[in-house]
Amino acid sequence: MTDKQKILIGGAWPYANGSLHIGHVAALIGGDILARYYRLSGNDVLYVSGSDQHGTPIAVRAEKEGVPPSKIADRYHREFVRDFTELGFSYDLYTKTTTDNHEKVVQDFFLSLHNKGLIYAKSQTLPHCPNCRRFLPDRYVEGICPVCKTPGARGDQCDECGSLLDTTELLNPQCKICGTTPEFRESEHFFLKLSHFEDFLKEWVPKQKGWRQNAANFTRGLLKKGLKDRPITRDTQWGIKIPIEGYDDKRIYVWFEAVIGYVSASIEWANAQDNPDAWIPFWTNGAKNIYAHGKDNIPFHTIIWPAILKAKGGLNLPSQIVSTEYVTLERKQLSTSRNWAVWVPNFLENYDPDTLRYYVINNGPETSDADFTWQEYLERTNGDLVGVYGNFVHRILSFIFKNFGDKIPTPGDFDEEDKKILKATKDSFKTAGQLISEGKFRAAIKEIIGLARLGNQYVDKKAPWSQIKVSQEAAATTLWVCAQVIRSLGILTQPFIPRSSQVLLETIKVSNIEWRFEELPAGSTFKEPKPLFQRLDKKIIEEEIAKLEKAT
Ligand SMILES: [Zn+2]
Ligand SMILES: [Zn+2]
Repeated sequence: MTDKQKILIGGAWPYANGSLHIGHVAALIGGDILARYYRLSGNDVLYVSGSDQHGTPIAVRAEKEGVPPSKIADRYHREFVRDFTELGFSYDLYTKTTTDNHEKVVQDFFLSLHNKGLIYAKSQTLPHCPNCRRFLPDRYVEGICPVCKTPGARGDQCDECGSLLDTTELLNPQCKICGTTPEFRESEHFFLKLSHFEDFLKEWVPKQKGWRQNAANFTRGLLKKGLKDRPITRDTQWGIKIPIEGYDDKRIYVWFEAVIGYVSASIEWANAQDNPDAWIPFWTNGAKNIYAHGKDNIPFHTIIWPAILKAKGGLNLPSQIVSTEYVTLERKQLSTSRNWAVWVPNFLENYDPDTLRYYVINNGPETSDADFTWQEYLERTNGDLVGVYGNFVHRILSFIFKNFGDKIPTPGDFDEEDKKILKATKDSFKTAGQLISEGKFRAAIKEIIGLARLGNQYVDKKAPWSQIKVSQEAAATTLWVCAQVIRSLGILTQPFIPRSSQVLLETIKVSNIEWRFEELPAGSTFKEPKPLFQRLDKKIIEEEIAKLEKAT
């Protein structure tokens, strides 16, 4: 079919210098929900992401550990691949920024922009540590904030008073690696002419409809302050080479090259299909281009990436921005350095991936910061997943299995109650689908769990366990109606909690699903049902909090 809507979904690229934590999952899950939903509704989806493997933090750490940077970057890349697979992320391609393909695409972009005069060389005064014998990126210089006089301000920003700083302004600056006072040296670098795009962005950004509020507000604020040209190369050996002679000791900055990964990953995907041009329809004409990422990534996707794409020409700019707010843990800021985090590999060792997905969707930082607490995690899992949805499915299928064997019973005439819940089931596809496409995932999952809740109320009222003593047909009607709700729930939950969705659909032997209501016919067989979710023991709350406190 050629008239299918092409939808490119880009999930932000996690930095390969440490394990994934719940904050990553919360920021990225929206991309997977959209990819799964749009595939189920018959669109052509290309969902790509990868590991961001370059940059100073990895280089510095590699030096400390005495290993090549690629060793650290690949270690975490492998871990990310495993985590995303277990969490059910349905990427069409999950790659990394150290591929030859990515390097080539980035260098093409660089040269194209350089030829147009939108990348230019200029001398810069930069902090250099005489002891480490390296130029220091902003984050590797600390000192006293010139504004509020607090120690520990970074070269780019003071966390205490929020002032944006220039490294040269810091009082008593020190190299963060060794503590030596840096000296300032001249170094020639390439700059992206962001100022050139200010007028365009000021006109384009307010017209965008599909952006989350935080993306729109934050971007408007940055544009108001005006855009300055930004250096896109730095003095390091770990990164993509500058495709111009005379700059061998410098590399392209991560913030410039990682976003180009959306294009290079699309090309890599097309090459793997043996159809090298297959990526183009996802980036041109009427294709939708959606990006899912956390708050800290907003300016890269709403200013820098659109500017780079505009400069390159011929490729779609972002049409939808699904950006989240921050996640806190037990009412404290997540901190990877202080180990105040729930790490994905640890979580997956002990718990069901669907329960984490459910939590970060239902309690997630969609419109404001969200807190993860083990207490709330237990309540949502035991309450919504085990108690409402899992319970509805299991009690109905078990009851049918026990009283009618492994076949969906044949219904009699429907009364108003039956018709009402069947209509609610059919309507859920439209309501939830609309909410998903608008990026309102929490409202969508509430709608779907609400349908399961309605199912429980319906079956409690009908009481097939009493009906069956009086009329086999009345009980059969109730159970047939419930089976329709169950089949639909198996599909409606697929974008959100795919593991349990698959178990349910396999149990009722349904495949080739689409995002619409279809009947589960009377007489169709199903397997002996098993509970979809495991109830969590209350003792995990104390255990997990103790683990957290011990680790910090
Ligand atoms: Zn140093
Ligand atoms: Zn300050």
